[in-house]
Amino acid sequence: MTKYATVDPTTGTVVREFATMSDADADQALVRAADAYRLWREVDLADRAAVLAKVAELHRQHATELAKLMTLEMGKPIAQAEAEVELSASIYDYYATAGPALLADEELDIAGTGRALVRTAPIGPLLGVMPWNFPYYQVARFVAPNLLLGNTILIKHAGSCPQQALRIAEIIDAAGAPAAIYQNVFATTDQVATMIADPHLQGVSLTGSERAGSAVGAHAGRHLKKCVLELGGSDPLIVLPGADVDTAVTAAVAGRFWNAGQACTSSKRMIIEASVWDQFVPAFVEQAAQWRAGDPMSEDTRLGPMASVAARADLAALVDDAIAKGAAVHLGGEVPDGPGAYYPATVLSGVTPAMRAFHEELFGPVAVLHKVESVDAAIELANDSPYGLGSAVFTRDANEADYVANRLDVGMVGVNTTIRSAPDLPFGGVKNSGIGRELGRFGLDEFANKKLVRIV
Ligand code: NDP
Repeated sequence: MTKYATVDPTTGTVVREFATMSDADADQALVRAADAYRLWREVDLADRAAVLAKVAELHRQHATELAKLMTLEMGKPIAQAEAEVELSASIYDYYATAGPALLADEELDIAGTGRALVRTAPIGPLLGVMPWNFPYYQVARFVAPNLLLGNTILIKHAGSCPQQALRIAEIIDAAGAPAAIYQNVFATTDQVATMIADPHLQGVSLTGSERAGSAVGAHAGRHLKKCVLELGGSDPLIVLPGADVDTAVTAAVAGRFWNAGQACTSSKRMIIEASVWDQFVPAFVEQAAQWRAGDPMSEDTRLGPMASVAARADLAALVDDAIAKGAAVHLGGEVPDGPGAYYPATVLSGVTPAMRAFHEELFGPVAVLHKVESVDAAIELANDSPYGLGSAVFTRDANEADYVANRLDVGMVGVNTTIRSAPDLPFGGVKNSGIGRELGRFGLDEFANKKLVRIV
């Protein structure tokens, strides 16, 4: 059964525990969300936008406190936690300012008489099932477009970030939102299934593992509910001859070790063309070695602990399997002694399909370097993954960049950059990385009723 508890990942100490909700409270939350929807959808769009603007302002006003709570609950280094709070605020701001125009009626150019409009209308109460790796940002990208649209929200946050879950609910309340347009639910997995089946609920969005995504997606399918899934990734970063290798190395190291590698769009597989391999590898290892683990509350720390000892054990098992089967270790690769969920910056090469690390997501600070002989071999290796989320290609040749971008089976491609999420850019993947898109104008369409209004 799901537990809600703050456990300090630097020590393993249980700081605070919270009870899960009763089944009666879970039922009641849905009734309240449905009642709130009938009122919220009638509120002027400008007033809904004003609530979001206030939510952004409150994130900024409380940024230090919110960031510290994140560092306490999941170990993100404080400077990165502060950056996440700011990104979350910018998402609420984006939908408050750019959102209303994106919701304008679309006039269709039709053959018959009269007019045809497509109106973007809300659909009702939604459930968001959220992960611990970006606790404010993941909530923001689901909540901001949907509250603007007029939907109401229930959030079941990860069991490991209950205090952040409660603070988000307090902030939305303090922003002047009417009661129950946003509710935090400390629900169990069974209660999530019951909520999805309930006729009051109209859709569900989950960010997390494939296991959780497929369970929630199956419930949604059975009960004919719209669902958006943002799951794992094993993003390739391709470096081709003639690339600016220094830029590629810096982007690859930051892309891999930021948030202790616990990001779906982290650059997990570096695919290096043979002619730049000897330049790339030592520079990558040297920069990776500078990501030394430290106290995540210190502004100077770049690599904190992983979110939990259990997550570290999963990662270490993948690395140990690769090493046992002959992978080369350039850096790290061993669980350190001492308390907490620390794992060192690790660099492997010689990873083959016989090893789990070739196919599975390395959700922690472990980089895999692959050498390839041609651009087509790079594309083939990049696509040899169950995932298809983000990717990056480094080259000075624009035609070559286009050639690669067109052939990668992914939702996002960066040319001479890794994928960094921004409020106005669509985010999402293909294959096992999920279904649907978040952010930008696309984030307003997933849980919308694109209603035809035909006027003659
Ligand atoms: P999970 O997928 O288990 O957790 C994400 C959310 O889903 C949490 O709120 C969790 O609740 C909930 N959840 C899990 N199973 C179910 C279910 N059957 N029904 C309803 N809700 C469910 O992630 P983990 O923390 O276990 O991480 C495991 C792996 O998932 C990582 O190693 C990584 O590969 C991937 N992951 C990917 C993320 C991404 O950004 N795409 C984010 C997090 C993880 P609870 O916490 O209460 O179990």
